[in-house]
Amino acid sequence: MEAYAYILLGSNMGDSYRYIDAVIEKLSTLEKSKIIQQSSVIVTRPLEYTMQPDFVNTVVALLTQLPPQTLLEKLQEIELSLGRERTIPKGPRTIDCDILLYDDMVCTTPTLTLPHPQIYTRPFAAQLLLEINNDIIDPRSHKPLREVVLCHQ
Ligand code: AMP
Repeated sequence: MEAYAYILLGSNMGDSYRYIDAVIEKLSTLEKSKIIQQSSVIVTRPLEYTMQPDFVNTVVALLTQLPPQTLLEKLQEIELSLGRERTIPKGPRTIDCDILLYDDMVCTTPTLTLPHPQIYTRPFAAQLLLEINNDIIDPRSHKPLREVVLCHQ
């Protein structure tokens, strides 16, 4: 079984563009997975803890046979292998990888929430997703994501 996973990458510490490139390099050799597309790379203002540098963000579409929990663990391994650092919760980080969507899966477990809530709360996350695929259906409402996120803005 293959699934489309959309992964948001973010960095606002150190050489952020290099961190993003390094994650993409590692994702390109991730087992049972293939990068299908990448959105543009954009600079965004921090939203919650605002006294920190701007972020560099991009979204990668991955066709994968890894189950979502395994994919999450692989992403966390990649973060650690790149020396992920974080000093304050919601604060600056060298690299962050979030699974925004995993096919149309909806779940809330102690370690994994799908869709990732920031799709609805951070306009740039939806913007990058829709840039890759403007026809994504929101797994929660079963409506086009482009309509759902308009309601949340
Ligand atoms: P953060 O590094 O602040 O993005 O949060 C990481 C934590 O969020 C990890 O402990 C994950 O288990 C949890 N988490 C829950 N849902 C997701 C998701 N869809 N993608 C990535 N991390 C998630």
